[in-house]
Amino acid sequence: MIETIDIARRGIMLIVSSPSGAGKTTLTRNLLDQEENVSLSISVTTRERRASEIDKVHYHFISRRQFEIMRDGGELLEWAEVHGNYYGTPREPVERALEEGRDILFDIDWQGTQQLYEKMRSDVVSVFVLPPTAEELKARLERRAEDSPEIIARRLKNAAEEIPHWEEYDYVLVNRDLDKSFARLRGILTAERLKRVQKPDIQDFVDKLLIDLKKMTP
Ligand code: 5GP
Repeated sequence: MIETIDIARRGIMLIVSSPSGAGKTTLTRNLLDQEENVSLSISVTTRERRASEIDKVHYHFISRRQFEIMRDGGELLEWAEVHGNYYGTPREPVERALEEGRDILFDIDWQGTQQLYEKMRSDVVSVFVLPPTAEELKARLERRAEDSPEIIARRLKNAAEEIPHWEEYDYVLVNRDLDKSFARLRGILTAERLKRVQKPDIQDFVDKLLIDLKKMTP
């Protein structure tokens, strides 16, 4: 069976977007823990580091000046201003991963997603995660308790601006139940991996199969 043997393919760019508090971070962390061959694209940001975050693991925390130098030097594949801070995706690690056939996960917003669509649509698979209710979204932001009430209020307002972009995504998950949503996210990745086994490599596989079959028949 084709799916049980390794056939070389280009990596997938798996984008997961959602308003803050929809559960995206837990979903993506679980995916990184449980799936082989997926790594996280570590963005650069000018936002302040939260107490729970580690530099170079969650983000590369950099100054505005450093950000502008990277952006103007073409080192970012996409970038956006979110909640008053700059965020961007370093280009080089992504290009390397794709060429090596490794999948790469992006936790970026709709603005970044649009830029990646424009540049590399055939490599991208995009998923938008919605919260089950507005109350639950607010409760999740409050439970996180790392952000001030002003920041929480700003994130709620932004959620209302981000949510209408769900239509631009390949897949949408309503995150009522974390386990179910995670199973669905994994299912998306599995199906897309099978779909994207690149045709030239399958062709080689099928050619050999047919040659072997011919040898077996008089
Ligand atoms: P947070 O500050 O909560 O970590 O992230 C805020 C928002 O910025 C999230 O919606 C997240 O997906 C988005 N974001 C994080 N990194 C990037 C990036 O490199 N590019 C873009 N366009 N958005 C990002």
